[in-house]
Amino acid sequence: MLKRLTMKKSKHAFKKAKKFIPGGVNSPARAFSAVDMEPIFIERGEGAYLYDIDGNKYLDYVNSWGPMILGYNPPEVKEKLSLQLEKGTSFGAPTEIETEIAELITDFYPAVDKVRMVNSGTEATMSAIRLARGFTNRDKIIKLEGCYHGHGDSLLVDAGSGIATLGIKGSPGVTKNTALETIVVPYNDRLSIKKVFEKFSDQIAAVILEPITGNMGVIDPGKDYLDFLREITRENGSLLIFDEVMTGFRIARGGAQELYDIKPDLSAFGKIIGGGMPVGAYAGKKEIMDYVAPDGPVYQAGTLSGNPMAMQAGLATLKELKDKKVYAELESKGAKLEAGIKNNIEKLQFPAVFHRVGSMFTLFFSELEVKNYQDVKNCDLELFAAYFKEMINSGIYMPPSQFEANFISRAISEQDIETTIDKNYEVLKHLKSKL
Ligand SMILES: *Cc1c(COP(=O)(O)O)cnc(C)c1O
Repeated sequence: MLKRLTMKKSKHAFKKAKKFIPGGVNSPARAFSAVDMEPIFIERGEGAYLYDIDGNKYLDYVNSWGPMILGYNPPEVKEKLSLQLEKGTSFGAPTEIETEIAELITDFYPAVDKVRMVNSGTEATMSAIRLARGFTNRDKIIKLEGCYHGHGDSLLVDAGSGIATLGIKGSPGVTKNTALETIVVPYNDRLSIKKVFEKFSDQIAAVILEPITGNMGVIDPGKDYLDFLREITRENGSLLIFDEVMTGFRIARGGAQELYDIKPDLSAFGKIIGGGMPVGAYAGKKEIMDYVAPDGPVYQAGTLSGNPMAMQAGLATLKELKDKKVYAELESKGAKLEAGIKNNIEKLQFPAVFHRVGSMFTLFFSELEVKNYQDVKNCDLELFAAYFKEMINSGIYMPPSQFEANFISRAISEQDIETTIDKNYEVLKHLKSKL
């Protein structure tokens, strides 16, 4: 049997946090509520590992929910942050770093001519939607079920991630009229979106989606489906928005749009783009981006947007990712993990399905194929919770929800991958004996 880790200090810290912070956390996904545990309080991170305040060490597959593709505390980023710290942390005036990072992004993304920096992924998608509405002079948007685009009002309808983890459909506080302008269709399904376009052809400002999902676990709809969306939006004068907050700079340097060679009209970025600092960005074709203030009429602003500390961390991270070798390495580690875990599933005849794209993966506790949000909701969530608990106790830190993606960072070694495969086998074997 597995020994239980001591989490006494975390328990105490959580009790105190709950007194002063709603739910004790500043973002619901951290609360561990779906796995019937309490969150682990972190002391520090180094490379592929996290250390909690009780002194436990974990091999990490959360990557701070995506940003830490280089691992924790990478020297390249630390160095730039220290330099900037000497100069000052915020000016609210332009710096050359902002242009440098924007230029680098346009290098990586052929569909992007101009980039506007914001402070989170939520702000990026919110602003992209406003811009799409302003630019097309239309109100409605189509969102795909199970995709999460941050907590902006228009997008908080049938969203994945924390909303799915908590088992709720939307949120009180989002007005009926706002929700009515958002039409939700199932992921990976052409007929329903065709029908919506037939009915509302000249009213749809944009279709927004995660081109490969992470926020209902990893689901890759494939190139044909994304080509179909590119086509149908073009035919109807709607914009296609790829929310690559998670997949951007992650599954490939140029995100899903590089992988599948598709040019969306607008893209939203976040996570990796800030290298662990709070950053988001929206970006796209010049004609559309020039519609943003001060050159255009669509207003969007930010006191801390393009903040020099954040830009330094982002730029240092993106510079490391310039070398495509990083992605080849991540792919090879991912492939090794995939082969190992699939082998475990096979050997144990375990009811689970493994999905992976590059360094993003999810183990679904399902006997059936997983192609959309309903399929994820039909997974054995109790079995997932049991798996999660045993993995944590084996020193493997993963997202505490079936509706999330795991991430492999550059810092994870071949040895770490082997350890993970071994632990996965032990845990699945133990769970199987109880099925
Ligand atoms: C994380 C995420 C967001 C929201 O980003 P925040 O920085 O948490 O606001 C939006 N879209 C996708 C696809 C994400 O994964």
